Amino acid sequence: MIAPDLDTAITTLRDLVDGSQRIVPFTGAGISTECGIPDFRSPGGLWTKNQPIPFDAFLASQDMRDEAWRRRFAMEDNFAQAKPGRGHRALASLYRAGKIPGLITQNIDNLHQASGIDASDIVELHGNTTYALCLECAKRYELSWVREKFESTGKRAPDCACGGYIKTATVSFGQAMPADAMERAEELTRDCDVFISIGSSLVVWPAAGFPSMAKRNGAALVIINREPTEFDELADLVVRNDIGDALAPFIVH
Ligand SMILES: [Zn+2]
Repeated sequence: MIAPDLDTAITTLRDLVDGSQRIVPFTGAGISTECGIPDFRSPGGLWTKNQPIPFDAFLASQDMRDEAWRRRFAMEDNFAQAKPGRGHRALASLYRAGKIPGLITQNIDNLHQASGIDASDIVELHGNTTYALCLECAKRYELSWVREKFESTGKRAPDCACGGYIKTATVSFGQAMPADAMERAEELTRDCDVFISIGSSLVVWPAAGFPSMAKRNGAALVIINREPTEFDELADLVVRNDIGDALAPFIVH
């Protein structure tokens, strides 16, 4: 059912949450927009102005690596100042209450970790943009270090001591989805009794596969998203209200 108003949405969601042992949230860009993180894919979003740099282009040229880092540092203020929103805090409350065994996210903004959910209980399908990794030896680099090198060398992307390229820990277009993350996401989806998709348009693979997987395995399906999705008919509850408004009542201080 599509909730006719916010009160019905909250009451129905409350009943589902209360009756549930294992809630698995699946989050997309919509949960972070109230935190000032832009939805790259939205009309007028960053990706409609700046085509994303595919992984093979990043590997192929120093200029592309320079450009990738230039763009990342241009975004730094958005990411560095962002704080968890009401949606993040509501999920963190349910997590602390023992209702959420793990959370799956398409977001790269680190806000679920910042809200207090343990990093080991977060599956990041698209990686994380708040730190960097060497593509060869997997050494971790903090962005402040990369930025200092970048600025002091005339805006050139630095390399690792091993010679490997350093890239934000995100999954780029054309870069393989991490197999262990996919496996954990599927496990969580199969084993939950309520699957809540929040702020994802559910069109990008593998996001599109999860709602029906959850339903097939007997979970109730909740979709909270401003715009309709392809899976609304399959859902037990569809909420098109503002995500922060719908989830704020679930915040426990
Ligand atoms: Zn290295």
